[in-house]
This record gives sequence, C-alpha cells and structure tokens, in this order.
Amino acid sequence: SSALRTRHKTTSRDAGGEKDAGRVRVAIRLRPKTPQERAEDGDAASVVEVVPEMSRVVLRKSQWEADAYNFDSVFAETSSQARVYETLARPVVEGVLEGFNGTVMAYGQTGTGKTHTMGNLGDLTTNGKGDTADRGVMLRAVDDIINLTTDDETANFKIAVQYMQVYMSAIKDLLDANNEVDVREDPKTNEISFPGATNAEVKTMNDFIDILHRGEENRIVANQKLNSASSRSHSVLAITVRRYPKEAKGGLASATARISKLLIVDLAGSERVTKSGSEGQLLEEAKAINLSLTVLGKCINTLAESGNGAHIPYRESKLTRMLRDSFGGSAKTSLIVCVGPLRKHLSESGSSLLFGQRALKVENALKLREE
Ligand code: ADP
Repeated sequence: SSALRTRHKTTSRDAGGEKDAGRVRVAIRLRPKTPQERAEDGDAASVVEVVPEMSRVVLRKSQWEADAYNFDSVFAETSSQARVYETLARPVVEGVLEGFNGTVMAYGQTGTGKTHTMGNLGDLTTNGKGDTADRGVMLRAVDDIINLTTDDETANFKIAVQYMQVYMSAIKDLLDANNEVDVREDPKTNEISFPGATNAEVKTMNDFIDILHRGEENRIVANQKLNSASSRSHSVLAITVRRYPKEAKGGLASATARISKLLIVDLAGSERVTKSGSEGQLLEEAKAINLSLTVLGKCINTLAESGNGAHIPYRESKLTRMLRDSFGGSAKTSLIVCVGPLRKHLSESGSSLLFGQRALKVENALKLREE
C-alpha cells in the first residue's frame, strides 16, 4: 500500500526508531486555566511547568522544591487538538492500518481534559456550535481510517465499531442498553474481543457520527441512575479494521482478512476517593469504583519493574482484561496523561506524572495480526 507508506514516512514521529518500537509512548497535556480559575487564581504560576521543546515537565512542589520529568512529548496549555492527535495518535492509527493492534488512552484527574482530548465532537455537537479545530482523537482517528482505507487501491476494508462504558465490574453497550457485554481472550491468538457488544459497520463519517450520538444518549440515560457515574466510568471505543486483498474480489466471504483493532479509551477520573468525603457504604462503593484503576496501576508497575514475563494481575478487573493487549501485549500504545494547572491539583498531578513515568517503561512486543 504505497499511499499508506508515504503518509507514514511524512507524518509519524517515531523518535525512538525501531529499537524500542513497542515501548508505550507517553505524553503530558496541561489544561489551560478556565476564565473563572484565572479570575480566582490571578497570575499565580501553574503548578505544572512545561518545556515542550525538551519534552520536560517540572512539578513546582514549593518555592524551593521541584521535580522534573521527561516524557515522549509534552503539550503546553496552548497546544492544539490537531497537534496532540498527529504526535500521539496518528502513528497508532497508521499501525492499525498496517495490521497492528493499537491503543490511545487518556489518564488523569477529573476535569483535566481527558474527554476534551478524546471525545470532543467539535463542530458536530448536537447544537452545532462547536469548532472543527476542537475535534478530538475519536473523530480524527476514524476520519483518518476512512480516508486512508479509501485511498488504498490494493485492498478492500471493513470497519466496525463497538462503544462501551465500564462501570465497576460491568461493561455496558453504549449502542444498545439491553446488551450484556463480556470480554474474552482467544486462547490461540490472544486476541481480545467483546462478545455481546453491538458491532456497528462504519462506511462514512456520518455513520460514525450517528454512532457517537447514539452512545452519548445511552450514556446520559445510564448515568442518570448513578451518582457522578460519568467521571467514575471508563469509556472504550473499539474500532475493528478488516483488510481483504483485492484479488479476492467477489469472494469476500472466503478470503482471509487481516484484522486489527484500535482501542480509544477515556478513563475514569484518577483522583483518590477520600477527597470526595465518602464514608461507610459510599466509601466502599467508591473503592470498588476505583478498583479497576488501582489494578491498572498494579499491572503497569509490575510490567515496568519486572517485565512481561512476570505475573501480571490482568484478571483482577474487567478494565485490565480489556487492556491486556495494550499493556504488556502486542499493540502499539500511546498514553496521554492530562494534568491541571492549579496548586490545589499538586498532589493529584504528582501521582499522574508518576503513573506516566512508569508507563514509559512498558514494552509491548508488536505483532501483525492475522485472522
Ligand atoms: P475530564 O474528561 O478529564 O474530566 P474535560 O475534558 O471534561 O475533563 O475538561 C474539563 C473542562 O476543561 C471542560 O470544560 C473542557 O472543555 C475544558 N478543557 C479541557 N482541556 C482543555 C484544553 N486543552 N483547552 C481548552 N479547554 C479545555
């Protein structure tokens, strides 16, 4: 596919080269202060200072004490959605079109910009007031997938989308509230699938926009029943790309497809539950809600410290079972850690930066998928 290869060369910024091609890429994105925060906080310096040209972040713990960290990329509060997408997500999307699984995931405290980064609909909001430039990773990824597969003259493609929300130990189908969804790992291929979730075929951008709106409606209905569920649940968009060689024209059903999956994950808020002042029953519930993030942290720590041969506790939560191929598996993975600018965010920003530092050490073994 020469079209794909040309795009790949000009757009991917695989700074690490081939040597650490499978390492998880980690970026930090600093959210700008809102007008109200600027009014309250005056010109107080951001607690997180960014030096994008050095891919460096400095956490100002006090006037005398600061911690500095390096990442693959660091985005200042002024960075555009397009730039974040091109740097972090496009190389993963291109990998998916070449036959690798891929994951783009946002982590961070509630209110730091995860949903803005991943799910912003820009001009496609239902009230139509937004701006194209605000479109997030989900829309840009599917737009790229549709365009690049249409341009590829050597193959036919089928694109299908599943859209799910993970809350405590349940996976809900955001495209059909009646469905029970499970997660399964194929014992032979290690391929992760989500039996029970609606598989919606996508041929055009309009198909995909309908899917996102349907998902949004179901999410609102589901979350009305649960207290602050939207910041407490993870959303997972799974895009499956099947590639059929052109020679097989007319015989699509019998041809072997190359199949790869892109997961776009907007995680629940990473803030500690004690902050919300929960007690008794509520606290127990809050702990259970955060369990999946705790398990994800454990998996990433173990992978970072002991490598992929160690026992990784994926089975301890639904979320980590879903992400098994993304961390310590065969996928190309990019993680965007979102942080807030205010001093009161110091401790949460600090833990998010540490989470990102550990994720930097996770090595996946990239593998082409075949069906
Ligand atoms: P989260 O998903 O992490 O809870 P949101 O994406 O909902 O956070 O962001 C919280 C608020 O901050 C929203 O009003 C969002 O529009 C705004 N915001 C977040 N990141 C940015 C950014 N990079 N530029 C402008 N506004 C942002």
